[in-house]
Amino acid sequence: MRLSRYFLPVAKETPADAQIVSHQLMLRAGLIKQQAAGVYIWLPFGLKVLRKIEQIVREEQNHAGAIELLMPTIQGADLWRESGRYDDYGQEMLRIKDRHDRELLFGPTAEEVVTDVVRTYVKSYKDLPLNLYNIQWKFRDEIRPRFGVMRGREFLMKDAYSFDLDEAAARDAYRKMFLAYLRTFTRLGLRGVPMRAATGPIGGDLSHEFIILAKNGESAVFYDSQYEEHDWTNTEISFENDEASIAARKSLVDEVLHAYAATDEMHDEAQFFASTPPERRREGRGIEVGHIFFFGDKYSKPMNAKVMGADGKPVNLQMGSYGIGVSRLVGAIIEASHDENGIIWPKEIAPFDVGIINLKSGDPATDAACNQLYDALIKAGKEPLYDDRDDRAGAKFATMDLIGVPMQIVVGPRGLQSGMVELKNRQTQEKTEFALAEVVARICV
Ligand code: ATP
Ligand code: MG
Repeated sequence: MRLSRYFLPVAKETPADAQIVSHQLMLRAGLIKQQAAGVYIWLPFGLKVLRKIEQIVREEQNHAGAIELLMPTIQGADLWRESGRYDDYGQEMLRIKDRHDRELLFGPTAEEVVTDVVRTYVKSYKDLPLNLYNIQWKFRDEIRPRFGVMRGREFLMKDAYSFDLDEAAARDAYRKMFLAYLRTFTRLGLRGVPMRAATGPIGGDLSHEFIILAKNGESAVFYDSQYEEHDWTNTEISFENDEASIAARKSLVDEVLHAYAATDEMHDEAQFFASTPPERRREGRGIEVGHIFFFGDKYSKPMNAKVMGADGKPVNLQMGSYGIGVSRLVGAIIEASHDENGIIWPKEIAPFDVGIINLKSGDPATDAACNQLYDALIKAGKEPLYDDRDDRAGAKFATMDLIGVPMQIVVGPRGLQSGMVELKNRQTQEKTEFALAEVVARICV
């Protein structure tokens, strides 16, 4: 992409209405624009990041055996009456009436809708296990939307729902998602800390929140320093349904939960302090980026979602649900990865792989070198952002740093006289000189 032809409204000043750094940077770097309280337009640059996160979440859900569908944002009130939640959910639910005076709502979650799908089509234990998910906008009329996309009213969520014949199988479904979440957050360049949680309006008896550690997190977290050492990228996890895989998942989840206890103030702090040696205790703040629940027949019973068991008798399905805040993650990642100059995107989700800064747009030799690099990078499968605008070098450096492109190639007439360009690492700010002919190969290693 040539910056002169892109739509990237960046701002120098810190917006006065944004309290935390991720919100400020998302506004300044042209990722989002507020439309109404807690409702945002995703500008092209922000949308690119959102889509990349969404895709990683999707790949890891698929890898864990979940199957994607797409449920509507608008739901009928009747299903929520069946489950008994229509009145319970309270003012967070945005209720709508259509022209025939029929009651609708903008879905805050989709347990009822997906349970209705499954009770319609799934009749036998032979069709299980089943995990259906979607990545869809939700609306919750939060009393205090704040911090930009971190606590919006409209937000993008991945929500998965597991259906099993009995509790043992449902607990395995829970463990699959638990492990898929660890893999997902690792791929996003984050450390997701699983924390035992209260179950809230979703209900049920087993629940974990996944927290990422960040200074501006909403909740206090106590965690074991071993969290910082465990590398999930190297852990092979089988998501098959054979006995050996099921047993391996159980021991892996147990290992994580026992060896790496974490808690927040509200929950089992006492137990954490009892079981964690003092030198390994850490305290920080956390952002909730995911939340998983096992709740048995809480929905299947009132909604009469049954399958035929092996003995020919109908039984209520055992369910769990599993959320990831996809749009919140954009803010959370920036909270965890920025400096005084702007955003530092982890490689996997960077909206552009590499920036090209032309120090003297209009100079034929410099333009030619930049164009050559730009074409070569695209040919090599990279996505470059080329700052070809007629602007001061300082402004170009500031923009490229603000928007967080991980690698930047600086091309100027002086270096070119000896055939050299500069490669800058956004994170370390390290600069290295390379021959123009060599730099693309360096980036592609
Ligand atoms: P919170 O405790 O932050 O209000 P929640 O427990 O109500 O969240 P869940 O129902 O567990 O949220 O939703 C799953 C995920 O969706 C959360 O872990 C979070 O990442 C995301 N999420 C929930 N509410 C919002 C919101 N208002 N804005 C952005 N993301 C949200
Ligand atoms: Mg939650």
